[in-house]
Amino acid sequence: MTIVSKNFYDFSYADLSKFILDHFSLEPKQVGMRTNQIWKFVYKKGFSEVSQFSNLPIETKENLQKLFNFKRITIKEKKISKDGTIKWLLQLEDQNLVETVFIPSENRGTLCISSQVGCTLNCKFCHTGTQRMVKNLSTSEIINQILVAKDELGDWGTQKKITNIVYMGMGEPFYNFDNVKKSISILKEIHGLDYSSKKITVSTAGVVPEIIKAANEIGTYLALSLHAPNDILREKIMPINKKYKIKDLIESCSAYTKINKEKIFLEYVLLKDVNDSEECAKQLIKLMSSFPSKLNLIEFNAWPGVSYQPSSTDAVQKFYQTIKKSGHIVTLRKSRGEDILGACGQLKTESEKLRKTI
Ligand code: SAH
Repeated sequence: MTIVSKNFYDFSYADLSKFILDHFSLEPKQVGMRTNQIWKFVYKKGFSEVSQFSNLPIETKENLQKLFNFKRITIKEKKISKDGTIKWLLQLEDQNLVETVFIPSENRGTLCISSQVGCTLNCKFCHTGTQRMVKNLSTSEIINQILVAKDELGDWGTQKKITNIVYMGMGEPFYNFDNVKKSISILKEIHGLDYSSKKITVSTAGVVPEIIKAANEIGTYLALSLHAPNDILREKIMPINKKYKIKDLIESCSAYTKINKEKIFLEYVLLKDVNDSEECAKQLIKLMSSFPSKLNLIEFNAWPGVSYQPSSTDAVQKFYQTIKKSGHIVTLRKSRGEDILGACGQLKTESEKLRKTI
């Protein structure tokens, strides 16, 4: 019988502990200690070879070697922007491609990770939206993006270079809820990567039922890609609004903040003559009064073939000032990594869903 080894990075800490208890002939009281050691080798030191795991009984090492696969996904291409942003094109074991972006700034380093290959949402201003949905990423494929970035940045010391993780790359995290949830539990695990809830942000285009579920089951910061303050406009640029209306979004966001007690980041890409009018700003102010929120105004990033244009500097300033005067928190987010197509909404890979040939 051939043993199919399991991908280590698909396991949460609790899964690993249970697996060791069930499959390794160890005393139950040793299981916790061994789980801890292994977890630390992998997630604190960044080891991906069992031979590097010191102080483990030979038999435990043999079992790990036999039962688990610790392989990293591979880097197909790396691009470095003149502003220091790094974009990696990563190749999965099944040959599909995803992108991951590191955005360094003065006091933080943000890693933007993908949750799907392609996307189903088809938001009109988003490059990923032009790529058909290929697949949900597994937990291990999500985690691997962080491990590869940490390898690349030499980020296995005590001082973290990657301080924040945002699920804002390709795909809709809430359409891949279970794997995203498990990946976050791995990120948060104190014996390993040890990111607190306040260092992780999940961004959604507004999958209403999953927002409430996430408040209870995931509990990180939430970003909502709003981009329009009324249904008519939102529906034109974000087809998901046909299914989940702004009223429902407000309700679920209010519920989220009641559980999570943190403001929700509203993402708003300013598109010239589409959503940047004074009237839109006023509607947005009203919407912002419905639940605790902060507004992130985002510069539109162009990509090959897009028909939208960024708002003029003047329109951006006016919009910003109108919101600011209302007393709500608003920031203008500068675009990063645009020259390498690594900025928000510019990610896209060549992966296509293969037709089934029977
Ligand atoms: N599907 C999730 C995760 C993707 S996050 C979501 O929609 O939130 C990617 C962010 O970049 C979203 O806020 C998205 O709306 C924004 N975005 C998409 N295209 C963009 C563009 N061309 N310029 C700037 N931001 C864009």
